[in-house]
Amino acid sequence: MISVQKLEKRYEAVHAVKGVSFDVARGDIVGLLGQNGAGKTTVMKVLTGYLEPTAGTITVGGVDVLQDRIGVQRQIGYLPENAPLYPEMLVQEYLLMMCELRSLPADKHLAAVSDAVRATGLTQFLTRPIATLSKGYRQRVGLAQAILHKPEVLVLDEPTNGLDPVQIQEIRGLIRRLAQHSTIILSTHILQEVEAVCNRVVILINGELAADSALTDLLKSKRVRVSVKSGTDGVAVALGKVAGVSKVARRGADPDAPGHDLWICDYTGEHAPVPAVIEAAVAQKWTLGGVAPEVSNLETVFRTLMSEKAVATQEKAA
Ligand code: ATP
Repeated sequence: MISVQKLEKRYEAVHAVKGVSFDVARGDIVGLLGQNGAGKTTVMKVLTGYLEPTAGTITVGGVDVLQDRIGVQRQIGYLPENAPLYPEMLVQEYLLMMCELRSLPADKHLAAVSDAVRATGLTQFLTRPIATLSKGYRQRVGLAQAILHKPEVLVLDEPTNGLDPVQIQEIRGLIRRLAQHSTIILSTHILQEVEAVCNRVVILINGELAADSALTDLLKSKRVRVSVKSGTDGVAVALGKVAGVSKVARRGADPDAPGHDLWICDYTGEHAPVPAVIEAAVAQKWTLGGVAPEVSNLETVFRTLMSEKAVATQEKAA
């Protein structure tokens, strides 16, 4: 559905996006994740045709944004960060104006507004001045304007930024509902947001692509936790001999099994070598507290990527 290839963007001295490539399939909800200044907004502005890339190609539904910007924008609904709304306008006035700016045929305006407010839960608020709405409801108005032309793709720049926890839950629910009919790319620096809504994640660090993966794959840590009675001899050596285990480290006392130490085995194959580890433990007559693949979360993955990036940068500079 969307293909971003070797995207570069420079703002004079600032090299904001450095050779970023990723693809988005129809129906995906992609979280574009990165710290402040990582390049998320820049990627979104280029993707939506509001900014020219320095180099690289972007296609949406097979249409090249550089060759046919309008053709791409027809397929995309864009909610910019701090979407410009007109506070003095009524919700319906604003949405009708946006229909006109989008060049929707005049006889389709009422149906477009009606569908958009129904999808975003704004039906009761049509005649309210935007200024009198809460931040969460103003964000719904921003989402409503983004879907007026029934785009296949929604690009949402930090859609829950500045909202309170209840509003955040509401907007996330709304995004999940919209995702039933659209492909969505949303940017955020909130890791839980990605875990709560997305099925894919693209991570940018200092303008470079650091990860592009299905969320479930990214969270597979390729480590097995082995809990062995404290004081057992020869654990590192025996675990190191298990087929597929590439590295063994002791992490200290196992918080879930008093009197046991936690050993971490990195593995290289596709499947966690849990049966082989248990076999080794039985052969060695160890008292086990448990053997299980390690479940990581996005925060640990993100921290690991950041530190790997820092090491790579240091090595480059040396
Ligand atoms: P945030 O989470 O803070 O919104 P971001 O990941 O969206 O950050 P961008 O806004 O894309 O990051 O910015 C990437 C880099 O490009 C930053 O260093 C930023 O200062 C710089 N930048 C963005 N817009 C401009 C501009 N118009 N002129 C010069 N530099 C810019």
